[in-house]
Amino acid sequence: MEVIKTKQSLQKAIDGHKAVGKKIAFIPTMGNLHNGHISLVLQGKKYAEITVVSIFINKKQFGVNEDFESYPRTIEEDIAKLKEAEVDILYLPTEVEVFSSEYELSLDIPSLTKVLCGITRPNFFGGVLSVVLKLFLQVRPDFAIFGKKDYQQLKVVTSLANSLDIGIKVIGSEIAREKNGLAMSSRNNYFTKDEKETLGFIYSTLCLIKEQIFKNKDITAAITEGKKQLLQHGITKLDYLEIRDRDDLSLKTTTASNGIIFFAGFYKNVRLIDNVEV
Ligand code: AMP
Repeated sequence: MEVIKTKQSLQKAIDGHKAVGKKIAFIPTMGNLHNGHISLVLQGKKYAEITVVSIFINKKQFGVNEDFESYPRTIEEDIAKLKEAEVDILYLPTEVEVFSSEYELSLDIPSLTKVLCGITRPNFFGGVLSVVLKLFLQVRPDFAIFGKKDYQQLKVVTSLANSLDIGIKVIGSEIAREKNGLAMSSRNNYFTKDEKETLGFIYSTLCLIKEQIFKNKDITAAITEGKKQLLQHGITKLDYLEIRDRDDLSLKTTTASNGIIFFAGFYKNVRLIDNVEV
């Protein structure tokens, strides 16, 4: 695996692979890698001969009171995992490579970013969009793989690539979960083993809502019951529990067809998200 830190060296390496007709799959991450990230690498390998993973903790997508400073940084372990997964290039840019010193760029796709996570994290998607676009233009991949765990981000990034016609196909990859259903996340490292065990209740609650909807229970009643369960199990602040359309993210209140149940909430001051397709 080549570890590359500058955009010039990256450009050379990418040019070399493109010159011999190799396709490139790109997996952007913020590091502290787990099997969810590795599942994206494996997905990328199905589409392209060359896989490029980036690790960059993007401070622009963190709010003022969020965990940018304490976000887990485990570069040695990450490198070992990526080597084992036979990744070709690890791109490790510094902030200089990613943020320009010019006036700040602001990008938005308002119809997708003003709901769900966009309500309580108003800076988040702007930060994602500007950095992902910059990384896209530096890596110039044929495919970019994003996890469905961050489903809204997947939609936003897909829309970015499609509307700019930059020749990158964005692929959504399934959510990797622990045995108890807890969606894998770098933020799970803030919890003890017992807490992680307990946190299986999030996935079971989402599955229960889905089951009730299949049994023809009214959507509002199923969501109300789900909220009650989440709060009873220790969610201290529920940002949202909603069913939205998987294509345009519009709210669904009468029928759940083509819907996804979206959850975001805090457990012990750590914000977690998850979703289940109906
Ligand atoms: P992050 O490092 O948290 O920014 O995530 C980098 C990429 O990994 C994003 O596309 C995430 O959606 C994806 N990802 C994170 N956790 C999971 C998971 N449990 N299953 C699938 N993809 C994931």
